[in-house]
Amino acid sequence: MNQTSETLDMVNAVGGPEPLIFERSVPGRRGFQLPDSGLTQREIDQFIPAEFRRATPPRLPEVSELDVVRHFTRLSQLNFSVDTNFYPLGSCTMKYNPKLNDRIALWSKFALVHPAQPDDTAQGMLRLLFELEQLLCQITGMAAFTLQPAAGAQGEFTGLKIIRAYHARKGRTPSTILIPDSAHGTNPASATLSGFRVKKLASGPDGLIDLRELERQLSDDVAALMLTNPNTLGLFEKDIRGITSLLHEHDALVYLDGANTNALLGIVKPGDMGVDLIQLNLHKTFSTPHGGGGPGAGPVGVTKELEQFLPVPRVRQTSSGFRWDDNVAHTVGRVHGFYGNVGVLVRAYVYIRTLGREGLKRTGEMALLNANYLKARLSDTFPVPFGEHCMHEFVASLKPLKAHGVNAWDVAKRLLDEGFYAPTVYFPLVVEEAFMIEPTETESKETLDAFADALIRIAEEAKLTPDRIKRAPQNLPVDRVDDVKAAREPNLRWHP
Ligand SMILES: *Cc1c(COP(=O)(O)O)cnc(C)c1O
Repeated sequence: MNQTSETLDMVNAVGGPEPLIFERSVPGRRGFQLPDSGLTQREIDQFIPAEFRRATPPRLPEVSELDVVRHFTRLSQLNFSVDTNFYPLGSCTMKYNPKLNDRIALWSKFALVHPAQPDDTAQGMLRLLFELEQLLCQITGMAAFTLQPAAGAQGEFTGLKIIRAYHARKGRTPSTILIPDSAHGTNPASATLSGFRVKKLASGPDGLIDLRELERQLSDDVAALMLTNPNTLGLFEKDIRGITSLLHEHDALVYLDGANTNALLGIVKPGDMGVDLIQLNLHKTFSTPHGGGGPGAGPVGVTKELEQFLPVPRVRQTSSGFRWDDNVAHTVGRVHGFYGNVGVLVRAYVYIRTLGREGLKRTGEMALLNANYLKARLSDTFPVPFGEHCMHEFVASLKPLKAHGVNAWDVAKRLLDEGFYAPTVYFPLVVEEAFMIEPTETESKETLDAFADALIRIAEEAKLTPDRIKRAPQNLPVDRVDDVKAAREPNLRWHP
């Protein structure tokens, strides 16, 4: 038996992980057949000069089409996904995304529109983008939106460029961005990448921004405060109006990281809080399957005063229809090729139009109800240090299990055995052994109960048989890996 068929037998016997596609390779096997081109060597030399041609064929796996289909279908089934498992990954809003929205985004009338088509021939698409901007303005209370940024982090980057342009117009060059210590990592990363200096704001004892600390840190050098509301602990900044007024008194702006908008839908508008800029993560809140770095969209909304700095082109409604327009007084320029990730924008549009005002409000309310229900079910077992009530997510501490030698990481792995994707762990840093849980509105009470039962069971297990938890996961195709080694010295062969 050669190596390949031995490998295959093992896979079939244990139902274990899939071998590499290269290990399925059999010399000469093909997934396609092409007729002979009939070209002579001289003709080939003429079309493609020798310097541009390979001396040896690429080392590709030699497999049939069916091998390819089965290989990738099996791999896809080794994954956790929202379509197969509860996925309470805090901060990421891994909710179910209606398949209808995918269907419509993939409809040829949308999917095959070319961005270089003349405006006249793409009126429907331009209208959709125009109306989506209006809808996002209504939902957030902002005056104008750009749909260009391709992710939340790129929205932050765009917002920071606008903040810099705003101050430059006033002849100012403040260099500091204030960021609370509970912020998502992209906030300080975007600020630093944009050439600002980051100053960390320590949270108060209640997990919220401490107004006195904020006042102490404010100076002429502060360009903006970047904050998340509800924040990363799942808490609403109650004094948000006081915070935004304070910043404005110092001629500094307030940037709202709107990745947590799921909690606010139909309930409160960021524009009413006095914020100047916000990015929305359409892939989180407005129905695009995400994870694994798939396409996203991070539109940025601004006040009337900041509209003059938005990226170009903007879509405008004129008497003769919808048009792209490069004429924006003090634009920060483009931040994406063409018009952004339009497929994501179509999904968001359909999602918002399908739910309507009432549906969106119910989405927000159910996201809060589900999180509070789960928090109530778990808080006898795991303390939740901040907040009596939470918004759409909460952060529990698994510190009590440390007495048994079990930490948050171990419990996360054990949950995988139980068929649940693990919550976000060790973030935010202000909670020891943090377990950040966001159930979203799309989960049923039965699923939430099953998850709570599993966690409570694991807490019991930690007292009785902590070794089992330390060895988890045991029911998955791959057991506990050495994460650091796996990242630094990846070994892509599945067998030793
Ligand atoms: C997800 C997230 C981001 C970053 O968004 P990406 O689309 O992943 O770039 C920023 N802030 C918060 C609070 C988030 O949850």
